Amino acid sequence: MSDIEAYSERAREWLQSVAGEFGGAVRKGLSDAENLALGRRYLKARFDAGYAGINWSPEFGGQGLTHIEKVAFEAEEMKFSMPSGFFGISLGMPVPILMKYCEDKAFAKERVLKALQGEEIWCQLFSEPAGGSDLAGLRLRAEQDGNGWKLNGQKLWTSFAQYSDYGVIVARTDPTVAKHKGLTYFWVDMKSPGVEVRPVKLAAGDHMVNEVFFDDVRIDDSNRLSPVGGGFSVAMATLMIERYTATDSAGFGPHLDLFISLAKETKIGGKPAIEDGRIRQQIARNYAMRNGLDAITARAMLMMRAGMEPGPEGSLNKLVSVRSRQKLSELAIDLQGTDALHYDDQASSKDDWQASWIGAPTGRIAGGADEMLLNTIAERILGLPQDHRPDKGVPFNQIPA
Ligand SMILES: Cc1cc2nc3c(=O)[nH]c(=O)nc-3n(C[C@H](O)[C@H](O)[C@H](O)COP(=O)(O)OP(=O)(O)OC[C@H]3O[C@@H](n4cnc5c(N)ncnc54)[C@H](O)[C@@H]3O)c2cc1C
Repeated sequence: MSDIEAYSERAREWLQSVAGEFGGAVRKGLSDAENLALGRRYLKARFDAGYAGINWSPEFGGQGLTHIEKVAFEAEEMKFSMPSGFFGISLGMPVPILMKYCEDKAFAKERVLKALQGEEIWCQLFSEPAGGSDLAGLRLRAEQDGNGWKLNGQKLWTSFAQYSDYGVIVARTDPTVAKHKGLTYFWVDMKSPGVEVRPVKLAAGDHMVNEVFFDDVRIDDSNRLSPVGGGFSVAMATLMIERYTATDSAGFGPHLDLFISLAKETKIGGKPAIEDGRIRQQIARNYAMRNGLDAITARAMLMMRAGMEPGPEGSLNKLVSVRSRQKLSELAIDLQGTDALHYDDQASSKDDWQASWIGAPTGRIAGGADEMLLNTIAERILGLPQDHRPDKGVPFNQIPA
């Protein structure tokens, strides 16, 4: 058994030992507030067991291990449906950025330790009504105000903003230069006067995303995490920081075995659906596709173990897995007939076809929309020429709205 397999086995044993307290089975029917409280207790237990900040420096409460142990732990953790979702973005991007770019190390250390133990949550305030895929097109303004800055504008789709203590934010500090060059990156206290968070209800019934309004929100210059005008590169670093997280070839939807069971239980033309050639073909296609994606992940892991950096092929994983999850869920719903009309807004997309289907479109947008992933594949894997970019080099305030 390799070291990494031994690590995974130890992690699995620990996860099994706490699954009865925190796992998917005990979370059924819990309200958001109860889930969050349970999540905070789980993060504390994870921290105490030595599985928090796995690849972070011990100086910040981490374990000082590598990215490989981190991904190995995440792959095991995913199987238990632990209540870690509220903290995924916080620990995935804003907190590592704070660790890397905040000059006040004592402040950063205190925040990181609290975030690792579930006591504080950070959100990522990038997207806006006019700037999602095109991050450099954002409009929220930061204007100099004495020795600090004043923020005015709106962010949109900010996950878990309603539970967040702090956020990282990109703002336009100079509209007279090309759009990428006029941005600056800050952290902001979400409890500051002038910050208003309004939850947005998604089709699945949950309120994970929010609109966040900034009305003359005053921040110090010490909140700045990039040079003035240098925010775009820190924003890119934020998006690249965890290029390889644990992926799921099921697209975070149900396991294929669940579809096979359904096909055995339901009928087409009086016969078990599993005997229908079209259903068997879908099972075979999905099986082959998921194995292909697992092979891409396995190759990336081997590259990292060999000290190499995996390439952009990871974008294939999200693109293909979530799209296929959506199609397979639709087929499962068709097979269920009128039984499919039942909808349980507490159900998990990992084991319920309706929840999986209704949540799939957001999965195809969040963290890089399908078309953006196709652009990455076209330009960075296939080497095709870049799209025409008519706003390249044009001062932001001269780009037609
Ligand atoms: C569940 C969820 C959670 C999210 N959480 C956060 C968060 O915590 N923080 C945050 O900042 N944002 C968050 N987002 C926002 C997310 O990053 C954006 O929705 C995403 O980047 C797409 O931006 P948009 O919604 O503005 O769509 P747009 O960018 O307006 O895109 C609309 C459509 O046009 C296509 N398109 C856009 N540009 C191109 C192009 N150049 N070529 C081809 N097609 C193109 C897109 O693919 C898409 O189909 C979240 C979104 C969701 C759904």
